[in-house]
Amino acid sequence: MSEYSAPLDDIRFVLEHVVDLEALCGLPAFDQLDVDTVVGVLAENARFMEELVAPINRTGDVQHSRLSDGEVTTPDGFREAYGQYVAAGWGGVPFPEAYGGGGFPWLVGIAMQDIMTAANLSFSLCPLLTQGAIDMLLHHGSEEQKERYLPRMVTGEWTGTMNLTEPQAGSDVGALTTRAVPADDGSWRITGQKIFITYGEHDLAENIVHLVLARVPGAPPGTKGISCFIVPKYLVDEDGSLGERNRVQCVSIERKMGINASPTCVMSYEDAVGYLIGEANEGMRYMFTMMNSARLSVGLQGLGLGERAYQQAAAYAHERRQGRAPGAPAGEQSLIVDLPDVRRMLLTMRAINEALRCVVYVNAECIDLAAHHPDEAVRQQRAELTEILTPITKGWGTDMGVEVTSLAIQVFGGMGFIEETGVAQYYRDARIAPIYEGTNGIQAIDLVARKLPLRGGGAITDFLTGIEATAAEVTKAGEALAPIGSRLAEGHRVLKEATAWLLANGLADPNNALAGATPYLRMSGIVTGAWLLARSALVARQLLDAGATGADARRLEQKIVTARFFCDQLLPQAVGLLPAVTAGPADLQAAAF
Ligand SMILES: Cc1cc2nc3c(=O)[nH]c(=O)nc-3n(C[C@H](O)[C@H](O)[C@H](O)COP(=O)(O)OP(=O)(O)OC[C@H]3O[C@@H](n4cnc5c(N)ncnc54)[C@H](O)[C@@H]3O)c2cc1C
Repeated sequence: MSEYSAPLDDIRFVLEHVVDLEALCGLPAFDQLDVDTVVGVLAENARFMEELVAPINRTGDVQHSRLSDGEVTTPDGFREAYGQYVAAGWGGVPFPEAYGGGGFPWLVGIAMQDIMTAANLSFSLCPLLTQGAIDMLLHHGSEEQKERYLPRMVTGEWTGTMNLTEPQAGSDVGALTTRAVPADDGSWRITGQKIFITYGEHDLAENIVHLVLARVPGAPPGTKGISCFIVPKYLVDEDGSLGERNRVQCVSIERKMGINASPTCVMSYEDAVGYLIGEANEGMRYMFTMMNSARLSVGLQGLGLGERAYQQAAAYAHERRQGRAPGAPAGEQSLIVDLPDVRRMLLTMRAINEALRCVVYVNAECIDLAAHHPDEAVRQQRAELTEILTPITKGWGTDMGVEVTSLAIQVFGGMGFIEETGVAQYYRDARIAPIYEGTNGIQAIDLVARKLPLRGGGAITDFLTGIEATAAEVTKAGEALAPIGSRLAEGHRVLKEATAWLLANGLADPNNALAGATPYLRMSGIVTGAWLLARSALVARQLLDAGATGADARRLEQKIVTARFFCDQLLPQAVGLLPAVTAGPADLQAAAF
């Protein structure tokens, strides 16, 4: 069984050199922080996750959460680990101090999630859903609601859920039918059934604050008629103490392909007491304000699982002997890490993980700058970049999580297919991420239909210009980096051509955009990853030229190798996707199924 070791060196490199943590700490909102403090917090967080949360990943997968008499019991060790998570205050780090949080940037919260997700995806989902609910209340809750719920949710003593899905309302959230009727005391009564609710019931916390989408009487059809309600498992008295049990219960939990320790609940609301958040019929608009950070966190799941799978595959490749590597002595089996094809798989995994870490962290930095930079123009520019990056992070990130965890199984050979090694779990766990929080098909449509047209195509043009500038800079940065620059220039060219085609032909006939959306998202992910690895390679070269030595120098040289491999061997896939983006819908329409 593998140990998990948080990749703190790579996290620090990205925080310092791909995004600018130091500059972020210089903003008025974060001026009590500095890079060393953040790095210290992450090191402590890593220790916690490695020692307490990673070791219960496998047992959680084997035991599953179990339902009995409406109560869910999480696997052995989950309650203890969650109790210590709350005691340490990890959940509150990126939330406002006014509600007991640490006041750190979102970027730091994301770096912590990078580690927690890798340690144990099932465990991480409880804090993740709580984070979404906190975010919603912070933005749209009344002062009274914030005072009543946020302090206990920020500590993690109470957890949160998001209740959107119903049997007939999955991607089409507007089809939901859960009803809310007003009560005499100003509260509401909620009736309906929700499915697939993550941590809808569990034994980790004393209260669960469900956020439930429902329709009020006379609501317009579709997404325009959705309202959002707080429905606590236990009602909360005036003084903040827990009162009566509300009429909400878990009626069953799903048996799933992965994330077995995370209870996925069917929730029944029977005249349950609820409290309206904000205005009636504005629920969908409110969901959009928290969607970017939720989708970023799910994109990050591809990275977390990919990282853990890579670590385990690399360790196995150093133990397993099989075949003979070129040039190895006759009569001796080689370690598989010396076989070129295994090296290709390991480097592919590492290159994708490192590219994805850059994409995720840049996306998180954009969220912080869009919210906290003092200059309105910078806020605006970063808000636009957040809009473009979010579907890429979610869609490409989670697709890559599946590919990288699948490669880990391949590195293990037959033993990868045997549950005992644990590596199959990462693949099974990874498979949900392209589905929930908006399927990747929906992400691709979001990218082409909502994000490309932003500011008349101006936002995507600025994004492309940034990639082009990096390509030019890297091309001039010496012999070792020049091939990275020329490959990136080619990636930029096809992405620009694909974008122009979609903007022109997608407007003329939306079927063109819908047919090309998924290959376009894949192309965007690959080129964005290459862009940020090229920037990493540039910094690595500069640091080497400035005299880095020893282990630092070896790490920096590896950065250049990884970037070159990505650009030489993975980036050309983006070029090959151009015909798929621009094919139009004819064959899709002509096909019979
Ligand atoms: C383990 C798990 C945990 C979950 N946790 C939660 C949770 O906590 N809270 C919650 O509310 N929900 C949760 N969900 C629900 C999840 O968000 C939905 O499953 C997801 O949104 C997809 O909806 P669906 O399953 O109905 O699939 P469908 O919407 O039926 O989609 C089926 C296929 O059709 C495609 N499709 C659908 N509509 C379109 C369209 N307009 N254009 C193009 N393609 C389309 C989809 O991409 C997909 O490939 C969870 C689901 C699972 C399995």
